[in-house]
Amino acid sequence: MVEIENKLKLFNTLSREKELFKPLKEGEVKMYTCGPTVYNFAHIGNLRSYLFEDVLKRVLLFNKFRVSHVMNITDVGHLSSDGDDGEDKMLKGARREKKTVWEIADFYTEAFKRDIERLNILPPNVWCKATEHIEEQLEMVKKLEDGGFTYFSGGNVYFDTSKIGDYGKLAFLNLELEGRSRVEKDHNKKNAHDFVLWFTKSKFQDQDMKWESPWGVGYPGWHIECSAMASKYLGDQFDIHCGGIDHIQVHHTNELAQAECTFGKKPWVKYWMHNEFLVLSKGEKMAKSGENFLTLSSLENKGFSALDYRYFCLGTHYKKQLMFSFEALEGARNAREKLQEHYWDLRNNVSDLLENDFSGFNFKSDEDVIDSLQKFHVDFLSQINDDLNTVQALATVWGLVKDDSINDINKLKSLELFDQVLGLSFSKIKKEVIKVPEKVLDLAKERSVARDNKNWEKSDELREAINEAGFSIKDTVDGFEVSKD
Ligand code: AMP
Ligand code: ZN
Repeated sequence: MVEIENKLKLFNTLSREKELFKPLKEGEVKMYTCGPTVYNFAHIGNLRSYLFEDVLKRVLLFNKFRVSHVMNITDVGHLSSDGDDGEDKMLKGARREKKTVWEIADFYTEAFKRDIERLNILPPNVWCKATEHIEEQLEMVKKLEDGGFTYFSGGNVYFDTSKIGDYGKLAFLNLELEGRSRVEKDHNKKNAHDFVLWFTKSKFQDQDMKWESPWGVGYPGWHIECSAMASKYLGDQFDIHCGGIDHIQVHHTNELAQAECTFGKKPWVKYWMHNEFLVLSKGEKMAKSGENFLTLSSLENKGFSALDYRYFCLGTHYKKQLMFSFEALEGARNAREKLQEHYWDLRNNVSDLLENDFSGFNFKSDEDVIDSLQKFHVDFLSQINDDLNTVQALATVWGLVKDDSINDINKLKSLELFDQVLGLSFSKIKKEVIKVPEKVLDLAKERSVARDNKNWEKSDELREAINEAGFSIKDTVDGFEVSKD
């Protein structure tokens, strides 16, 4: 029998090591993933982040953990730099489209939800909007003020990073060096890394989104929303927090600092996980704020499906940079379609057996066939459990479909099982039934007669006519089969 190594290991940014995953409470995982800033469509780089998080969640579920997943919607407070400089992103969107910030937020929140549905990303248990959690954010700022971690300067409430010894531990920041090299634009700050918790003297006088607060009418800094909402729904300490690598340095570092100061508990989060970026072939960084970015719809308009993009992302480990090109996406589409074809063929072959003849996998026998089937299962599990190695897991799936020693029903059921992690929707995509037009059928029948009469010239002419109509014809033992090219 094959040895099963099924312990889940995940790379933790906090330790910079692959660690054995052990949740705070046995069998249960609480995870928070930073959601989109809804001032524009998500670009395919952003969507790579949500796909990585989806694979993580599916792997946790595959390992039989119960998962509580919270994702926020940033609809206020995010400036165009991750620090406190630059334009307000929501205002920028509103101005661009001549709408209110609220209309912009609604429109792009719905667009985002449609994107993740098309990508077959499992929705979180809780969606939470920053603007619907202002009370919780104010409460946290008050606690930080009471604890002596804030100061008021130039009309804004700041977090004082000098009050804690381990600020920057997530990003391995060298504060002294970093501080010196930073070009500081906000003269109200005492220390280079300090950040705004609450803006009252708004940098933007026409800010539509504003609320009463003990420090005056204003709006929250960007980072406070995630700390406040994650803790509301997941508690003062939880298991996993994710985002793209750009969040390590500023956003997650600040979330962590303010949460650990508020709750006095360490660690606030046990495992921090971050995905690498999707980059364009030209080496160009895709940014929502630039005009030149690709959305899921723009891929679909070129004839790709959302699942082609999903397959494309599965083909590179989440901690590696992924270079985008349409040629590479085409390769992913071909591979996904072939795998889907295999699935349909298997389904077709075993359609009679499906209802009764499969009683689940039973790896108790010592027969060779069972061993080789079991090996695919063991490999798949150990690969996804090795810090989500989808690249090798996909190779295992291909190995399985090509292995002649395994029978069709076992292959089919294995594919369905593995798809719980891959999320390629094998069983949900229905095979397109192409109706062969009467005219083409008549040509095929005519060709049959020509063949019976050994009139090969006519038979070839008719085959050509069928091809020209976009179909191909294959001779079979009991006649012919016409299919779409
Ligand atoms: P945003 O909507 O700008 O807050 O970003 C949403 C998510 O996308 C965050 O987790 C970012 O870290 C991530 N992200 C941004 N750009 C890229 C990229 N090019 N590739 C992968 N992830 C990205
Ligand atoms: Zn966040």
